[in-house]
Amino acid sequence: MDRIHILDKDFEVSIKNETIQERVKALAERINQDYEGKNPIIICILNGAFMFAADLVRYLTFQPEILFARFSSYEGTETTGQVKEVMGITTSLAGRDVIIVEDIVDTGITMYNVLPLMRQKGASSIKIACLLQKPEKLQVDLAIDYCAMEIPNDFIVGYGLDYDGFGRNYKDIYSLAK
Ligand code: 5GP
Ligand code: MG
Repeated sequence: MDRIHILDKDFEVSIKNETIQERVKALAERINQDYEGKNPIIICILNGAFMFAADLVRYLTFQPEILFARFSSYEGTETTGQVKEVMGITTSLAGRDVIIVEDIVDTGITMYNVLPLMRQKGASSIKIACLLQKPEKLQVDLAIDYCAMEIPNDFIVGYGLDYDGFGRNYKDIYSLAK
């Protein structure tokens, strides 16, 4: 499917699943090198990262624990704005290596606010792995350790990402039709 319609908008395919898989696999190979013989905790950030995380972990050659968390989105654009843990982690992170798996880093504000929450729980190291990043939009000082793909400043759906709740099921990534 090259074009899809969700609610009031048309989208056209921008990244096919074959490309996504190549990039996710290449990212997994970098992570494999860094975590060989270790047992980090992978935290999949719901909802958007569910498909990326499911593919990523299947390429890993070490044994991670896999947890899920959900955060409420920040209000406004205040960089100091707090995100709230809506579905939290009950496993202790004390002394553990943590890899946060996120769908997309846009302004970076969400991840910027999630990091201290993870540090408070005692993680000994925290890295961010994201499927996508929009470098032009980054507003905060955020180190993204692993990023599968950089994209221009377009609104995208598919492969876990939604438009108003819909579109997460598509295996390809679509951007707003011009
Ligand atoms: P940030 O806090 O970095 O500005 O935004 C991160 C969150 O905004 C992502 O986890 C994602 O949920 C949402 N987001 C940012 N850009 C897009 C986009 O192009 N499409 C969709 N569906 N969500 C996006
Ligand atoms: Mg997200």
